Amino acid sequence: MANLIDRYNRHLNYLRISVTDRCNLRCIYCLPEEFLPMLSHSDILTYEEILRIVRIGVRLGISKVRVTGGEPLVRKGVCEFLRALSEIEGISDVSLTTNGVFLKDKIHEIRAAGVRRINISLDTLDREKFMRITRRDNFKEVWEGIEMAQESGFDPIKINVVALRGINDEELTDIAALSFSYPFHIRFIEHMPMGNSEFSIQNSDPPLLAPEIMTRISVLGKLNPVKNCVNDGPADRFRFEGAKGEVGVIRPLSHHFCYKCNRLRLTASGQLRACLLSDYQEDMKTPLRNGCSDEEVANIFLRAVRMKPLEHRLNSENAESISSPMSAIGG
Ligand code: SAM
Repeated sequence: MANLIDRYNRHLNYLRISVTDRCNLRCIYCLPEEFLPMLSHSDILTYEEILRIVRIGVRLGISKVRVTGGEPLVRKGVCEFLRALSEIEGISDVSLTTNGVFLKDKIHEIRAAGVRRINISLDTLDREKFMRITRRDNFKEVWEGIEMAQESGFDPIKINVVALRGINDEELTDIAALSFSYPFHIRFIEHMPMGNSEFSIQNSDPPLLAPEIMTRISVLGKLNPVKNCVNDGPADRFRFEGAKGEVGVIRPLSHHFCYKCNRLRLTASGQLRACLLSDYQEDMKTPLRNGCSDEEVANIFLRAVRMKPLEHRLNSENAESISSPMSAIGG
């Protein structure tokens, strides 16, 4: 029974699970330097609670999950959790989004847990700039983690790059050029104004949008479109002639993809969100901890799905401001 179909006939089969709001980096567009985790250990869902939610979600049509955060690799036991997710009958795809700092040490465990697809966030190839963006000196660890992921056979390895005017705009071409030497899928993401970050507050320049990103990187050669396939996200995909990898743009602002959005998000604090860019959420944790039945959990899924908006309103005049940073929701 696949019941997770919303009012606009979108089939929601993809659950993104944030396992923690904690992060070892402090990206200027995501978290403040003095960020204190908002959630105590007892506030966040246990792995057992998340697995129960996923099993019930599977009966309703969820078949794909992504584990994210905060930084998922800072949470103890995450590899065992990934394995338990992979073992759920009906889940055909378990993927991971990470900043890559702890990847090198955990890569074999992650692969053994059944994860085949991994997204690594990296907004610059320059150590100094990495420190400016993340406020931490971990470029070396991230790059080594990416290389280890490649050696360990992960395919595809997606590199998520948030396009930040005045910060990495001059470097986008160099980052895109990685696709000539590596089989990576480089994904440039338009920055979304969320959570009152330092970058949003201090930067009043117009956002760096996909058409400009494409113009900048097209100096490298002819970009041929690549067809989307089953597990694809919302990126518009391209390949330079002769390149081993791909480049792509994710354009929530300049050309939103809400009409085909198949996602639900479970926050670390146990809130189910039907839209990344709306603060509307359904509480799952309280009913779970009050001993609710599977049917009640299923009803919460259905309620959230019914409330999924047709599209986000970041571009509209009366745009809702999103108070939570991405780290709290799970990007
Ligand atoms: N810690 C992990 C990581 O860095 O990949 C997972 C969580 S992080 C919140 C997920 C993704 O969201 C990262 O690629 C990050 O760059 C992106 N992100 C965070 N805030 C964003 C924003 N305001 N606009 C666009 N992307 C954002």
